[in-house]
Amino acid sequence: MTVELDLTGSVALVTGAGRGIGRAIALGLAAAGADVAVNDFADEAACAAVVADIEALGRKGLVVMADVSDEEQVNAMVERVEAELGPLSVVVNNAGITRDNVVMMMDPADFDSVIATHLRGTFLVSKAAARKMFRRRSGCIINLSSVVGRRGNAGQANYAAAKAGIIGLTKSLAKELGARGVRVNAIAPGYIDTPMTQALPEETRKLIVDATPLKSIGTTDDVALAVVFLASPQARFVTGVTLPIDGGLGI
Ligand code: NAP
Repeated sequence: MTVELDLTGSVALVTGAGRGIGRAIALGLAAAGADVAVNDFADEAACAAVVADIEALGRKGLVVMADVSDEEQVNAMVERVEAELGPLSVVVNNAGITRDNVVMMMDPADFDSVIATHLRGTFLVSKAAARKMFRRRSGCIINLSSVVGRRGNAGQANYAAAKAGIIGLTKSLAKELGARGVRVNAIAPGYIDTPMTQALPEETRKLIVDATPLKSIGTTDDVALAVVFLASPQARFVTGVTLPIDGGLGI
């Protein structure tokens, strides 16, 4: 049995990878041997810095700016990754935004933009990649859901709906692609220390830690290591799952 996770020869695309969890995932995949395309919406300098870190690990990196909710931009991005890095074997749908409010006060535009980035974005990137992976009979897709998609959260109905939708999309795509050797899984992080959660008041962070059986907030590497496992050959019999990385918060 080989225990070391080795992605040598893989080409990965990580969306929303200029910072936070996406950045850690891009670096984790590169550390395991993959060449990695780094996508983001606006912050090109941040993506270039991630690519420099990937190159320092001895792998190839590529900045691919695109809005994941725009079909034309997504299709062009996937074509460019394949033209410059080679056949895409790992896709991580990580890009995300929050526009929190209680439903009674929520602007429909904030509902739509959260669904568009998370759910439509995951659909569009998965569709473009799946068409290539299906033909090659190999590849894997990993989607970022959330503990909030499994349990709901007051003040985050748009985000929870998008993240729950991603679980349904993941299971459906796993059934559609399984016979062609393409695996599709999701990860449901709990509260992870990133710019998204650093914006929370200290009191809220304390409440979250108290509610978490392992009594801490997670790190971006906790999530990245789970992605590397799901992307690795060692996960060859794993598809359609939503793996919680949440310190037990979702129990
Ligand atoms: P983050 O720090 O806010 O980073 C999100 C990234 O997504 C940013 O780099 C952002 O780019 C990019 N992005 C936003 N809209 C985009 C679009 N339309 N197209 C392409 N890229 C776009 O978030 P994070 O905390 O690392 O979270 C990463 C993922 O994990 C998200 O899906 C989030 O929902 C999920 N998650 C996070 C936590 C947590 O505790 N942090 C928990 C559960 C799940 P710009 O800066 O250029 O806009």
